[in-house]
Amino acid sequence: MGLMRFSVVTAFPDFVEAYFKTSVIGKAVQKGLIECDVVNPRMFAEPPHNQIDDYAYGGGGMVLKAEPLARAVDFVKSPAAKVICLSPQGRLLNQALVESLATEQHLILVCGHYEGVDERFIQAYADMEVSVGDYVLTGGELPALIVVDAVSRRVEGVVGKSSAVEDDSFAKGMLDHPHYTRPSVWRGLKVPEVLLNGDHGAVASWRRRESIARTLSRRPDIVGNAFLAPYIEKGVYLIWGDASRVLGDEAGLPEEVVIKFLKNIISVSERAGCRKVILLLKEAAIRQKIRILLSRLAKLEAECDEYAEMIKVVPNMDRAVSWIKEKEKSSPYMVAITSENKANRIHWDELKMRILGFCRPVAFCYQCKAEDMVGVCLRNPLGVNDSGDIFSGIISVAVTLERIIGLEKKEVPIGRDR
Ligand code: SAM
Repeated sequence: MGLMRFSVVTAFPDFVEAYFKTSVIGKAVQKGLIECDVVNPRMFAEPPHNQIDDYAYGGGGMVLKAEPLARAVDFVKSPAAKVICLSPQGRLLNQALVESLATEQHLILVCGHYEGVDERFIQAYADMEVSVGDYVLTGGELPALIVVDAVSRRVEGVVGKSSAVEDDSFAKGMLDHPHYTRPSVWRGLKVPEVLLNGDHGAVASWRRRESIARTLSRRPDIVGNAFLAPYIEKGVYLIWGDASRVLGDEAGLPEEVVIKFLKNIISVSERAGCRKVILLLKEAAIRQKIRILLSRLAKLEAECDEYAEMIKVVPNMDRAVSWIKEKEKSSPYMVAITSENKANRIHWDELKMRILGFCRPVAFCYQCKAEDMVGVCLRNPLGVNDSGDIFSGIISVAVTLERIIGLEKKEVPIGRDR
């Protein structure tokens, strides 16, 4: 991807230019990681007065005229440019939008002032209107700089350590953990002991727990959209019960369909951060058949190397649970994916909270006896009939995992939003 470019259209260029020379953004410009330019619509207004604003029709204050703004945008426009008008009425800026904007090559940020901007300019030119919050500022300059700053942090190299950006609040959907620096005791207040002893595993675990605790207490509203896998210390598992029904000889599925099933269930589970898919297969012969198939696959295709690793076949639920328990040194929290209307069913938001609240592995169980479980039941998320068709089963599992655990964010380019 090429250099990221920001062009700010503002009648107050000094204000914006100063920012482009300062601190992290200033360094990024100097290093050529981002390009920032400023264009003043006054340069494109009619002489002799170069007036860029006029009284509002119908009464009221001053409004920025359409033509000088349009000419300024035309002047800086590149073929890939996206025009963003800063407005309190726009789409609320959040990290997801920031990441989407970071996939663009050139953002033109148009700053309003006074009462705002002639609506016809917005209609004709804006790909998107963006707001930085539900409050009104005197001009679009600060909002434009907020966009430049937040988007630049997503450009590789702008922030020294990319892991710092990954751990920031909202990057994976949760709040960041607290930070400390020297001295280790300040006015009698000590830095938490765990940060001082050099145990990286313990530090990571502490940070994870702090992130979770902060998010649950301060911003429980964002948990719904968070990708939970990095915060679940003990790992997520998928148990596919009664797999003989789909993989056994009586199901009569051709080998290529079985292979497709295995590949799909692995990719669905991996995307949700599962550590292992456990298939319950009563019959020793079928377990053996699946093992042979997996090792053959691993030999045939390089990408399937991890398949044998990712799938485990066991005869029954007890074996699956005791295997997880031994591996994780903690018994799994069992969550049934079922279309049955069980009394112990809970809302997925509540389930997310519970999963984050304790330090246990989580096993999502599909086609298992839900009533034996200590966990909860979820309604079949798509309402699809998954009574016999393995691929509708995969969809049920995929949607449930996505809803509860989430997916690692994918960047989505913006388009015109109207
Ligand atoms: N009359 C407008 C309204 O109520 O929607 C507010 C105009 S405001 C005083 C002037 C300019 O500041 C806007 O055109 C916009 O560019 C910028 N602005 C103010 N608040 C903003 C916010 N929360 N987000 C983005 N831009 C904002």
